[in-house]
Amino acid sequence: MPLVEPIFEDLAIIGVGLIGSSIARVARRRNAARRIILADRSVGALERAKALGLGDVVTDDAARAVRNADCVILCVPVGANEAVGRVISPALGPGTIVSDVGSVKGAVISSLQPLLPAHARLVPGHPVAGTEQSGPDAGFASLFINRWCILTPPDGTDEGAVKKVRALWEAFGSHVEIMSAAHHDLVLAITSHVPHLIAYNIVGTAADLAEVTQSEVIKFSAGGFRDFTRIAASDPTMWRDVFLHNKDAVLEMLGRFNEDLTALQRMIRRSDGDGLFALFTRTRAIRLGIVAEGQETAAPDFGRRAAETDEPA
Ligand code: NAP
Repeated sequence: MPLVEPIFEDLAIIGVGLIGSSIARVARRRNAARRIILADRSVGALERAKALGLGDVVTDDAARAVRNADCVILCVPVGANEAVGRVISPALGPGTIVSDVGSVKGAVISSLQPLLPAHARLVPGHPVAGTEQSGPDAGFASLFINRWCILTPPDGTDEGAVKKVRALWEAFGSHVEIMSAAHHDLVLAITSHVPHLIAYNIVGTAADLAEVTQSEVIKFSAGGFRDFTRIAASDPTMWRDVFLHNKDAVLEMLGRFNEDLTALQRMIRRSDGDGLFALFTRTRAIRLGIVAEGQETAAPDFGRRAAETDEPA
């Protein structure tokens, strides 16, 4: 249901990719802002945003986009927030809320906070929702429904600003949780960043194997590899920036991962079937927990078996 009264008058979104365009779509659908102003540096993204009718104003001038905004959301790769912050800061009006969607929070806060004028209110955020695709055509209004959005307001952030950003994400259909940036970065390192690194690594290893041909890799990909290739198809710029800006937490979690991998290696070498069985039973329970929480479908094989039933027997 659209809101009776919008939360913001002018919502400016900088970066009209997968996440920015999804926010623009859902903000319009839910009447979360009276006007939506979009800015991007990519001519192609701006043209598509115009053609898709995603905003009331579409511009390549980020400073102009934020001039009358009461809320600005930065939807650019993590490493680009500082450059965008420099451009928009002088144009921010009193009380303007500045938020973002970056997958890393500590680094974004330390690069943005010193740039913003004292009268701006920084409420960093991260919608834990996405796909392996990029750009304005990849976005969709229901992306955030039943997903978590984590807010990491630094100490002393104005409560009213946090309340408004929470209301915005709730209007988008998300559940909101508030935590420190450091805790966010540690949790996401193990739930998102390291899994992506593992996927990039295994797909790279398979691609380099001399004794297995490329066509065999593709032909037999249903044996687990296919699901890694989906994750490893994620945007290279976004993920390069995630690893460069969440170094400490990712290295900490990778250390633990390597220790556990070594233990698994030993179980295989020693034919420790009980050990392997116990671990696989524990991990299956985690999967069932994620399905029970509504964060994943219980359909087998990502629903592909359902499609097969349409085929003639
Ligand atoms: P995307 O689809 O690649 O879109 C990013 C857009 O920002 C591109 O159009 C890019 O233009 C533009 N941009 C880059 N630098 C800019 C600058 N200095 N000024 C203005 N525009 C600029 O990326 P996305 O997937 O939406 O990700 C955006 C943010 O969301 C990232 O911080 C990411 O960590 C976070 N996030 C992503 C996901 C996900 O699953 N994708 C999920 C949650 C959060 P160019 O093409 O010219 O660079």
